[in-house]
Amino acid sequence: MTAEIISGKDVAQTIRDELGEEVAELKRKHGIVPGLCTVLVGEDPASVSYVTAKGRACEKLGMNSFHHELPAETGEEDLLKLVDELNRNDEVHGILVQLPLPKHIDENKVLYAIDPDKDVDGFHPVNVGRLVIGEELFPPCTPAGIQELIVRSGTPTEGAEVVVVGRSNIVGKPIAIMMLQKKAGANATVTVCHTRTRDMPVHTRRGDILIVAAGKRNAVTAEMVKPGATVIDVGVNRIGFTASGKAKLVGDVDFEAVKEVAGKITPVPGGVGPMTITMLLKNTVRAAKRGL
Ligand code: NAP
Repeated sequence: MTAEIISGKDVAQTIRDELGEEVAELKRKHGIVPGLCTVLVGEDPASVSYVTAKGRACEKLGMNSFHHELPAETGEEDLLKLVDELNRNDEVHGILVQLPLPKHIDENKVLYAIDPDKDVDGFHPVNVGRLVIGEELFPPCTPAGIQELIVRSGTPTEGAEVVVVGRSNIVGKPIAIMMLQKKAGANATVTVCHTRTRDMPVHTRRGDILIVAAGKRNAVTAEMVKPGATVIDVGVNRIGFTASGKAKLVGDVDFEAVKEVAGKITPVPGGVGPMTITMLLKNTVRAAKRGL
C-alpha cells in the first residue's frame, strides 16, 4: 500500500492560523505585538530570499517585522553593537542573524551575543542546555517542525523506536534529544546514525519513525525502511535543472520507492521545509508572551 503523504504545507498553515489567533489576542488583551528582527550581512541570494520570506510571514500574522541589512564588509564589532542594541529594544522579541556570516566574522561570537531570551533560533548554548534538560524555551526551528509533523500526523511516539540519520547541531542532535524527553510527543527509544555507523540498514529498519537529515540524495532506500514506518525526510538536495534553469529539489530519501514501503512520508519540497519558518514565528510569539 502506498504511504500517506504528510503535507508540511497543510500542517504549517494550521499552525499559522492558530498563531494568528494568539497574535490577535496578545494585541487585544495586552497591547503587545510580537516582533522579529532579522539581520542580514552581505547579499547572498539564498539568505536574501530566506529573510524576505521570514519578514513576509511575520507581517501576514500581524506581527512586527524589523530588518537590518549590512554590507558584506561590516566589521564584527559593528555587528555585535547592533545585536546589543536589539537585545535592549523592547519592541524586538526575537532576533535572527541570518547564517552564513562573512568569513571575517566569528559566527559563534555573534550568536552567543544574542540575549538567550530573544534567541528564537534556539542556537545559544543556554537554550541548547535548556533543551537537553527538558526545560526548553525556544526549541530549534527545524527539529521543532519535525516533531510537530510526527505528532500532528497521528504517529504514536511513546515507546516508539526513533532512528535519526545525521548528528548535526541544527537537526540531528536536537531532534534526537527532543524525541528522547519524558514528555508527550516524545518518550521514544532513540538511535542516531552517522557516517561512521556500521551497517546502517540494521538500525534504520528498526525505526517506527525514521528521520533523515544527511544532506545526501538517496541516503535512505526502500530496503532500509521498516514496512509501515513514518519517514520524515529533512534533506534538501538540488539536482539537474528544469527547462526554466531552476534546480529540482529532492530529499535524502528515495521517495518513489520508499513510499511503497512506509506508512507515512513527508515529500520534498512541501514537507519539513514549510515548517521551519512557522516554528520561528511560534518561538517569536512565545518570546513576546514571556513578559506576561
Ligand atoms: P550536515 O551538518 O551536513 O550534517 C549531516 C549529517 O548526516 C552528519 O552528521 C553526517 O555524518 C550525516 N551523514 C551524511 N551522509 C550520511 C550517510 N550517507 N549515512 C549516514 N549519515 C550520513 O547537515 P544538516 O545541516 O543537518 O542538514 C541535513 C540536510 O537537511 C541538508 O540537506 C539540509 O539542506 C537539510 N535541512 C533542511 C532544513 C529545512 O528547513 N527543510 C533545515 C535544515 C537542514 P558525520 O557527522 O559522520 O559527518
